[in-house]
Amino acid sequence: MDNETGNWRIGLTKELFLPHDAQAILSIPLSIRKPPDRMVWAFTPKGQFTVNSAYKVALSPSQASTSPLGSTSNNQQTSVFWKTLWRLKVPSKFRSFAWRACKNVLPTKSNLHSRKVLDDPTCEACGNSVETIGHALWACDKAQEVWRASGILVHSHGGSRQTSAIILQLAVNMLDEYRLANHRFTMPNVATHTTWAPPHNPWYKVNVDGAVFQQLDAVGIGVVARNHTGHCLAAMSKKLWVPLGPLEAKAKAMEEGIDFAWDIGLRDVVFETDSEVLYKSLTGSITPPATIQNIVSSCILRLQDFRAVQLTHV
Ligand SMILES: [Zn+2]
Repeated sequence: MDNETGNWRIGLTKELFLPHDAQAILSIPLSIRKPPDRMVWAFTPKGQFTVNSAYKVALSPSQASTSPLGSTSNNQQTSVFWKTLWRLKVPSKFRSFAWRACKNVLPTKSNLHSRKVLDDPTCEACGNSVETIGHALWACDKAQEVWRASGILVHSHGGSRQTSAIILQLAVNMLDEYRLANHRFTMPNVATHTTWAPPHNPWYKVNVDGAVFQQLDAVGIGVVARNHTGHCLAAMSKKLWVPLGPLEAKAKAMEEGIDFAWDIGLRDVVFETDSEVLYKSLTGSITPPATIQNIVSSCILRLQDFRAVQLTHV
């Protein structure tokens, strides 16, 4: 990534990676605000890890590696997994334990707490985290000690003291997360327009869109800002030499459009997109698809700088 421009270094990426991988990398839209890197589980649409999706990946490595985002629930594979588990040649109490761990029915403190059996779900072994199954079997310091002693190669989270810069970065990230979780936008009307309508005075309306030029491995984004009389105040278009998909291109257009509106001094703005997924992601009614999560977060944070914001979908 080029730190100055915030874009992928296309030449270098193509040089370092196999064509298929380079294409996959370049199709990830980068946010102009350069948020910190984040782990995304590629096998669920929302990018969050679920045990269920992990079975499916484990069961079909070839399918998973070719279409990570296209995987859907597959009862047959799941039942194959359970059959395999139950046929493992280990003492039955091990199989039963594995089954109960996968189903999240072990009596962890977290589970007992949610059933009001315990007041405090904190892990007794380390005292600094809620004792979920993931914590008890994996993340807890004590569990990590056991894994390390077992000689099985496991990834461990450092162990050395964090620098103040890292602590600051973590705090900033948490603040961002808090703001994202608590954001509210005014929704002017639920009905969607089929034709463009000017905003009410003193609002400005900014329409954004993205188009994919598949043959060129490029996308075009466009932004138009108009006032309540429908008069066009400013417009911007840009070509980005990255092979984004339609949704990613529209998300990128929104991010650029928000910055553009801010830069030309607009403060009461209706942002309009024709992407329902993008609209719903920005208004918090759905979790954004993993490929646009960074962009959506960046947009939401930036929108809070405006005096008043509305989002609409046409
Ligand atoms: Zn613990």
